[in-house]
Amino acid sequence: MRNAQFSEPDPKTLDAIKRVLGPAGWKAPQDASRYFEDPRGRFRGQASLIALPASTAQVAEIVRLCAANSIGIVPYSGGTGVVAGQLAIDSDNAIVVSLERMNKVRHFSVDDSVIVVEAGCILENVHTAAQDHDMMFPLNMASKGSCCIGGNLATNAGGIQVLRYGNARDLCLGIEAVLPDGTVLDELSPLHKNNTGYDLRHLLIGSEGTLGIITAATLKLKPQYPDTSTAFLAIQSPAKGLAVFQEMKRHLGDTISAVELMRGLGLTLVASKFPGLRPPFAQTPDWAILLEASGALGLGDRMQEALGACFDKDLLTDAVVAQSQSQRDSLWALRENTPAANRMAGAFCNSDTSVPLSRIDDFVKDTLQAIFDIHPDVQINSYGHLGDGNIHHNVLPPNGVSKADFLSANPGIIDAVRLAINDVTQKHNGSISAEHGIGRLKTDDLETYASAARYDTLKRIKAALDPKSIMNPGALIR
Ligand SMILES: Cc1cc2nc3c(=O)[nH]c(=O)nc-3n(C[C@H](O)[C@H](O)[C@H](O)COP(=O)(O)OP(=O)(O)OC[C@H]3O[C@@H](n4cnc5c(N)ncnc54)[C@H](O)[C@@H]3O)c2cc1C
Repeated sequence: MRNAQFSEPDPKTLDAIKRVLGPAGWKAPQDASRYFEDPRGRFRGQASLIALPASTAQVAEIVRLCAANSIGIVPYSGGTGVVAGQLAIDSDNAIVVSLERMNKVRHFSVDDSVIVVEAGCILENVHTAAQDHDMMFPLNMASKGSCCIGGNLATNAGGIQVLRYGNARDLCLGIEAVLPDGTVLDELSPLHKNNTGYDLRHLLIGSEGTLGIITAATLKLKPQYPDTSTAFLAIQSPAKGLAVFQEMKRHLGDTISAVELMRGLGLTLVASKFPGLRPPFAQTPDWAILLEASGALGLGDRMQEALGACFDKDLLTDAVVAQSQSQRDSLWALRENTPAANRMAGAFCNSDTSVPLSRIDDFVKDTLQAIFDIHPDVQINSYGHLGDGNIHHNVLPPNGVSKADFLSANPGIIDAVRLAINDVTQKHNGSISAEHGIGRLKTDDLETYASAARYDTLKRIKAALDPKSIMNPGALIR
């Protein structure tokens, strides 16, 4: 992992940027430590200035100043990214551009089923704004209270409802962005059909701040359904989990919005770190699935039929269906607190790879074996989005051993485990980054595992749009 070096900003240019932003529009780095924090506590960012623009015009003006003076820009939204894309790690020459003051809902249209929001809108606030109009915005993840639409689009975030609604890319109809030379690209129209050349919206989505700063977006809304059914299912293996998913699809069709896999070890971990949370089974199963469906009234009855069919086929060992919103929330709390429980338990490796659904069972078996081959006593908490083939492995020190002691006794184990998981992923035709992106953490891995054609094309696009490489230098492509 490297961070590109670029020259120290000239104080006169920094002053000019401050003048554009006004006194409330910037912070000195010493007053802004929160912009340098990594949610997993591994890295620390740096910068020469935190810019807090209040409008697209201000963003454009400071980008123009940076372009003219070759100053690097690190776009920043909620700071929840887990691959250090929002953190300049080994140089304080860049400026951070945080979109937090650009957090307005600009427009809402029930007829178009869209909401137009600024990039600094917190995801959960978009959920609330949609609900106020009896609609819903389906992008959802455990970081929803902090992450923002700009970051969600820049990382093409996934989360727990990709199965039914797609990832951030699928939920965005239009985009407004400032390109690396300061040009404002205004493509916020809610058109469903627009074949007028390259889709620039999709080029910016998933570009992790390396091709421009997203300032606003037109997001697709979905209807709120009257009935939701949530089941927590005990299973013996990921293979049984997939069979349950197939059987449930036969009964519930496209109403299924989430199929989350959890390991028994993870359930025990969450219960130990969050004493109010308990798995709802007499015995902790080897594996469990949290499955949710929403649709027309009567869904609960269809869920019961579907579960009966699963029991008849010997796919489940136990099942609990939430009978109220508070029971649903408790089941989801087990899943949503898993990343925090991993961190509290000293997870030293957190993978984010995906494989075709048909390969999940072999992928899980092979990765667990490959990790135990490296160290037989580590604990592995595997969980994630079974319905999308995106299982996260979190590797923890052996029981009773602290992370610090374990890592000092096993130098090199973090890289060894990461590469082992990547190799198994590649063997099963998967992707080394399913939903978190590349950031600064996985630039070497991208270069290693992407095809030469893909990597070269990515580099050529970057060079064409950002010839001075001022946009998030060191992220995605070195
Ligand atoms: C507890 C927890 C759970 C998570 N669960 C999920 C999950 O289920 N699925 C998932 O996909 N991710 C998940 N994440 C990762 C993270 O929340 C997502 O990547 C999220 O989309 C990042 O949004 P952000 O606003 O925090 O962006 P930031 O962290 O601020 O930035 C992320 C990247 O986007 C760039 N960027 C930010 N804003 C802009 C902008 N306006 N224009 C251009 N580039 C920009 C940054 O430079 C950086 O490269 C989780 C993280 C945590 C901590």
